[in-house]
Amino acid sequence: MACGLDYKMSSSNMLTVTSVPLTFTQGNHTEIIHPTIVQTSKSLILVDVGYTATLPQLLSALRQMKVQREQLTAICITHDDIDHIEALAAVANLAPQAAIYAHTLEIPALQGDVPSERLIQARTNLQALKHADAATQQWAASFIAAQEAIERVPITHAVADKTIIENTLMAIATPGHTKGHTSYYIQATETLIAGDAIVINADSTLDIANPQFTLNIAAAFNSVRKLAMLPIQQLICYHGGILKGNIAAAFEALIQKYTHEIFK
Ligand SMILES: [Zn+2]
Repeated sequence: MACGLDYKMSSSNMLTVTSVPLTFTQGNHTEIIHPTIVQTSKSLILVDVGYTATLPQLLSALRQMKVQREQLTAICITHDDIDHIEALAAVANLAPQAAIYAHTLEIPALQGDVPSERLIQARTNLQALKHADAATQQWAASFIAAQEAIERVPITHAVADKTIIENTLMAIATPGHTKGHTSYYIQATETLIAGDAIVINADSTLDIANPQFTLNIAAAFNSVRKLAMLPIQQLICYHGGILKGNIAAAFEALIQKYTHEIFK
């Protein structure tokens, strides 16, 4: 079952995977996001960093785990969306020793060399919203302003499909949500950190995250089928937290659902 607030997840041979639930509130909207911390005797790896506003919660989680930010060896980014990377510049500033990993295709936008796919999408949508009500237009405009305000930093390491990071994580290219979206897999514990390739719903079923924001739904579906081939004991989704139990059955249900939706 999904247990978003399940703090410590699994441990084996000095390898600990911790999903850290962070609460983000904006107006009357509240969401919980889940960066992941992977700890071994040699590495301290953070997968996604969250919003600037959730950074104090992340730092407090690190303190509770009794780790110093100076110990952070790597930051792995799943993709360029504000909820995953807004705090990246701040974290990089606090832990300048940490290597920053992202997929080759995601790096230009992450570094600010080109506008992000999401920003382009939002600008296009704003034009289509010309006749929408004022509140909708204002929301869209503030979404764009927030994307534009993200502070960008250099990504130090490019990954591709199957790149091994610090002997611990394997990058799994999962395009669809964005073109360089990457999930991370830990073979030792059969843990998949899916990012936004998959979301866990409140009823523990799986879905493709934010289908309306998924830039290429057919590619996203292929990525789900690719992930379904992995042996998975624990699934961590940025939106939804942790799922344990019969993951294969949950994947099968998701694949069935989209087989009907995409190929009907
Ligand atoms: Zn997200």
